[in-house]
Amino acid sequence: MSIDLHTHSHFSDGTMSPSELVALAKAKRLSAIALTDHDTMAGVEEAMAAGLALGIEIVPGIEISVSHQQIEYHILGYFADPEQPDFAAALLTMQEARNQRNSKILEKLKALGIAVSDEALQSISAQGQTGRPHIARLLVQSGVVTSISQAFDQFLKKGRPAFVTRFVHEAVAAVTLIRQAGGIAVLAHPSYNDPALIRLPTLLTELVPAGLEGIEAYYPTHSRAMRKKISALAHRYNLLLTGGSDYHGEVRPGTSLAGGGNVFVPPELLLKMKERWRQRRS
Ligand code: AMP
Ligand code: ZN
Ligand code: FE
Ligand code: FE
Repeated sequence: MSIDLHTHSHFSDGTMSPSELVALAKAKRLSAIALTDHDTMAGVEEAMAAGLALGIEIVPGIEISVSHQQIEYHILGYFADPEQPDFAAALLTMQEARNQRNSKILEKLKALGIAVSDEALQSISAQGQTGRPHIARLLVQSGVVTSISQAFDQFLKKGRPAFVTRFVHEAVAAVTLIRQAGGIAVLAHPSYNDPALIRLPTLLTELVPAGLEGIEAYYPTHSRAMRKKISALAHRYNLLLTGGSDYHGEVRPGTSLAGGGNVFVPPELLLKMKERWRQRRS
């Protein structure tokens, strides 16, 4: 029986509601899942209720986009308290930055002759965080492009005419904030933006002293060799290993929750995480 510690709902850029995700996890016979929406924990309550009803353990989580020496990384936070004042304020800052950026992107599109209204965007992203993936879906829906990747390639990615940067926290600051909120900070998919793991050792020498406690080792695109490299580093720094599918729903064809034919994530990883969390609290 697998678990899945990395999933997205429509509270960020996934397409399923938290309840639908939990029902899918039940159908796939997963014993536990974490909801890790981008920059928000707003879907956690619904996931918890669904988990209780269906007998699936739910781990409260979040995935925070951060920057370190101008490179973007993602930090997962588990069991953090979304109401801890500093953490809550930091999330609000990110959410406001997103809103400002979305308006700027729409303005740039308008200047390019593509009229997409804020109302249309809100209807695509009814809950939680709105980001470029929603704008991409809107561009597909309005027939401007034929796919989400075309929307990024032609308009939304860095260097393209509707690209706008957004504020993100420094990696060390995000780790500190998660820790202050009582959470466990984990580096997500370390191969992202660092495919040969060249920068990872140096990154760890800064993030571990700040309170990083784990690395995501089990991930759909990680080969066994990659997992071994990550495990060796984790061992050196006494870090937890985690894993998950990064499932976003049907928007990404061919993807699924963990287990079955997809990445298998051993339940022991969650037991070890909870043990560490309890020890810290006692
Ligand atoms: P945002 O957080 O609004 O900047 O959007 C970032 C998200 O957009 C990433 O997490 C990806 O899910 C998605 N994304 C980024 N680049 C691309 C791309 N070239 N094609 C499709 N999706 C992308
Ligand atoms: Zn995403
Ligand atoms: Fe990510
Ligand atoms: Fe993710």
